[in-house]
Amino acid sequence: MRAEIKVSGIVQAVGFRPFVYRTAMENGLTGYVRNRGDAFVEIMIEGKDENVKAFLRDLRRKKPPLARIHDVKTKFLEGKNEFDGFSILKSSANVEFSGSVIPPDVSICEACLRELRNQEDKRHDYFFITCTDCGPRYTIIEDLPYDRSNTTMKQFRMCPFCQREYADPANRRFHAQTVACSVCGPKASLADREGRVVTSKDPIREAGRLLEEGNVLAIKGYGGFHVATATTKDEPVVRLRAVKHRSQKPFAIMARDLETVKRFAQVSRKEAALLTSYVKPIVLLKKSSGYYLSDLIAPGLHNVGVMLPYTGLHYMLFDSVREPAFVMTSANPPNEPIVTDNDEAVRKLGSVVDYFLFHDRLIAQRCDDSIVRVHGKDVSFIRRSRGYAPEPIRLKKAAGKCVLALGGELNSTSCVLLEDKAFISQHVGDVENLETLRFLKSASEHLLRLTNCKPDVIACDLHPKFTTTRLAKDWSDELGVPLVQVQHHHAHGAALMAEHGLDEIIAIVCDGYGYGLNGEAWGGEVLYCNGQGEFRRVGHLEPQPMVGGDLATRYPLRMAAGILSKATSIEEWLRSNSIHLPRGEQEVDVILQQLKKGSVPLTSSCGRVLDAVSAVLGICYERTYEGEPAMKLEAAAAIGKNVLKHQPTVKGNVVNTTKLVHRIFKRRNTDAASDLAFCAQQYLAEGLAQVAVGEAKRLGVDVVGFSGGVAYNEGITCGMRRFVEENKLHFVMHKSIPAGDGGVSFGQSVAAAWQMMR
Ligand SMILES: [Zn+2]
Ligand SMILES: [Zn+2]
Ligand SMILES: [Zn+2]
Repeated sequence: MRAEIKVSGIVQAVGFRPFVYRTAMENGLTGYVRNRGDAFVEIMIEGKDENVKAFLRDLRRKKPPLARIHDVKTKFLEGKNEFDGFSILKSSANVEFSGSVIPPDVSICEACLRELRNQEDKRHDYFFITCTDCGPRYTIIEDLPYDRSNTTMKQFRMCPFCQREYADPANRRFHAQTVACSVCGPKASLADREGRVVTSKDPIREAGRLLEEGNVLAIKGYGGFHVATATTKDEPVVRLRAVKHRSQKPFAIMARDLETVKRFAQVSRKEAALLTSYVKPIVLLKKSSGYYLSDLIAPGLHNVGVMLPYTGLHYMLFDSVREPAFVMTSANPPNEPIVTDNDEAVRKLGSVVDYFLFHDRLIAQRCDDSIVRVHGKDVSFIRRSRGYAPEPIRLKKAAGKCVLALGGELNSTSCVLLEDKAFISQHVGDVENLETLRFLKSASEHLLRLTNCKPDVIACDLHPKFTTTRLAKDWSDELGVPLVQVQHHHAHGAALMAEHGLDEIIAIVCDGYGYGLNGEAWGGEVLYCNGQGEFRRVGHLEPQPMVGGDLATRYPLRMAAGILSKATSIEEWLRSNSIHLPRGEQEVDVILQQLKKGSVPLTSSCGRVLDAVSAVLGICYERTYEGEPAMKLEAAAAIGKNVLKHQPTVKGNVVNTTKLVHRIFKRRNTDAASDLAFCAQQYLAEGLAQVAVGEAKRLGVDVVGFSGGVAYNEGITCGMRRFVEENKLHFVMHKSIPAGDGGVSFGQSVAAAWQMMR
């Protein structure tokens, strides 16, 4: 019997061909296996009937750990007895199917780590040691099929030793495209801030020593550069903050090992599993009482983002130092994507760092580290990037159309929706300037090429002025396909539905800003959404004045002033806080005047209410990064209790936030800020949940979901969940996509597909 088999999923770049080769040999079969240009693997086998069947069973059961089989198409044919044995053939450029994809990058495996440390091993101390089970993938692939010549490894010719292992079916590196050693592979080098080589026998360990001494280094990794420094001293962190123009934004750190992490942070079993998983994401951990790293790493926050080393290079940085962890933050100039090129690094980071640690492999796709947070048993994605992208999200129901969605404006990603799979790009960032827009475009094109998808529809935000909206319009014109604009919070709600396979939902969506219908500023919404791609706004937070428009986003005192002035006289209080406004007394006068005139834009944003509370409580007066006042409020609330116990005031499905802020204001001098912070979060959670539950019951919908950036807030999420579940309804959150705007492209794609199928 002969069988022609086509396997889709993540089957290239995961050791699948060597696995097929071994399995065919074990079953005494002849034939061949080869990669194809559409990311499928094509197999031809011939032999006894029972052996062919055993092979097909083993194919699914014994597949390599990193492989994901989505589909196996098998055609049984007459045996012709034409093959001498079984072989791995040269890849074919055939492109026939869509939807297969190459895997994300994988952190160094145990076997490679052992060899890195073994003095007898040929790859002892080789910083880019990899095998079929580990190493970069997405970041080095330029084209399909996955062969070395289609990756940025093509510039490194294998030495005879590597070549032998590559060709040996019994070896772990059989057909491993990233195989390399210190003789033939990428090399590391140390350079000063002008990019001039600093001679060193051991540049990586030397870089570790320089970090420990307090220098700031730019270190090239798999998907881009990190800016790094020591963590136990304040001085280098202060310097890093000054040069990066980041006064408060938390820095992620890379710790030596898990034991070390446990000395400064609380680590649950689930968190430990994530930290040590082959993805090695940044995990947001609660600082422990014994936290001894510089307070300037994550100032004013109760948690800190930690990851473990994920390449040989990272391990070696720690070898000759005692420092428990290094700051490792993405090296990107303000509003630009992460830097990937050596010359570009010198140009853009030379004024920021003291030294560079380079390697000479090119980066095909830039990719930032992923960030996750654990809520009880659940993992929530803050940024889904390295180690996850471009692995597809599997939908419970297939979409009938192929959609390319370009996301919103902040924390953007793009998404290719194809049948029952959604391929979300790596983190792209804030698409406000040309450089990031170009990155979004190239990341989207790369995804389309990898998945062999031709979009039927282009989806984007409703905001007429977003750069992504303009790009989407151009793209749809170019391809001659329809454009579907999806309201921001509707996209959040649709994403929840698609992820959980729902036909209807009452979605609570809370974030900072989204362009609402009629151009209103939304951000504290309760929506009814359905599987026809329709939505209705059924409730929201009370619209509040943003005194000074965007300035109110930057300076939460303005937001507080606007809300409080509806219920009380604020002049005296505002004057006593004038030092927290950049132009002091003068600015107070302007604010009072603006309020008197009354023509102030309104917003129903939940983020802005949290900002206002944060300012009233003296927790945060300036928002230097997205979500800062709300995150610091959450940090305070983490140790607070419900002292006010007040029932939310809700009228006509509008949650009154004036009363909330006013009550907090009145108690600000008598109660602990942490308790009041807790109460404010509780009030918003219950108020919105009350509206959602009421509408769910009225409309006969049994699921209430929560999405948007505010869904990262543990206190608000817990409060909402409790209220919804006490009312015997299901409560859902995001599981595999970010609740924040990194998940918006996914929501746009499903909402657009549903609308097109109506
Ligand atoms: Zn390995
Ligand atoms: Zn070699
Ligand atoms: Zn949003």
